[in-house]
Amino acid sequence: MRSKMLFSLSLLAIFVGVALCVDEDTVLKLTVLHHSDMHGWLYGHKHESNYNADYGDYQALLNHVDDYFTTEADTTLEDYLVYDSGDFLQGTGLSDATSPPGIDIIEVMNMVDFDGTTIGNHELGLPESVDYLWDKIHNEGYLPSFVTSNTDYVNTDFVDEPETFAKKYTCGQTTNTGHKFMTVGFMYYKETQHDFGNTIVTDPLVSVGQPWLQAAIDECEPEFVIATCHISYQDQDVFTGIKAAITAITGDIPTVFLTGHTHWWTAGNCDTGEVDEDGVEIEDPNCVYAEPGAYYRYIGRVELELARDADSGNMYIQQWSHPR
Ligand SMILES: [Zn+2]
Repeated sequence: MRSKMLFSLSLLAIFVGVALCVDEDTVLKLTVLHHSDMHGWLYGHKHESNYNADYGDYQALLNHVDDYFTTEADTTLEDYLVYDSGDFLQGTGLSDATSPPGIDIIEVMNMVDFDGTTIGNHELGLPESVDYLWDKIHNEGYLPSFVTSNTDYVNTDFVDEPETFAKKYTCGQTTNTGHKFMTVGFMYYKETQHDFGNTIVTDPLVSVGQPWLQAAIDECEPEFVIATCHISYQDQDVFTGIKAAITAITGDIPTVFLTGHTHWWTAGNCDTGEVDEDGVEIEDPNCVYAEPGAYYRYIGRVELELARDADSGNMYIQQWSHPR
């Protein structure tokens, strides 16, 4: 119990501490909370006292965070968003022990007010669970922020022709400060690993060449983009390509890739795909990736300070961190 309280209180203490030292050029201080690869660990790790927070504790933490941003934060400057990056099924056994697997997990996830979540290979590999999830999303309004920009649903028992599994994108506006943003969601693509029966995954680099991206940007008019991706942080060429496709339409705007699948804790600036004269990869200062581990051992937290370029009028990432 004590460790759970420390977990919540220390995070809130950090929010307050950071809020006091924001650069004067900053127009938005954005906290992005992120988790991925939960794999059914709704009940915490009861035999490990440092990791025993369960899904209810997570929601309790989000309630505290929401209280802070509503009542204590600088509402002219600070906002937060919450994301998941897929692979919430298959893991603990007990939480999958329904027919189809994952009914309880989907029920609990639907109670969390995500700004975006997406699909992973452990969902796609369970066709009956995919049918169940599709039905819940489409017919009962579950998980309204679910985004699958490159995954289509093709089960002809339920649809006449392929359609995007969930929304291809969502438009958002930060609660306190009113900044517009767009959320997209991508599943990794492996040419030899996508015979899941009732879904088709398109290569993300092919997907962003399709007309939907222009339509999404026209509708959302994003000042920044959040991409929740069930893609390894190592697949930098994918992030470089997606960022380039967005930049070609909007000009250079901050883009955050919330990655998953490898269960690693890591973060960095995205590659540009170019090297300097010494052969070293040149990083993109306006593009960040972050992967938050797995099984709710940690909550990923990307802290961004965004300023506005006087010439282009676009936002840019002034500084960022990924504290644990
Ligand atoms: Zn995965």
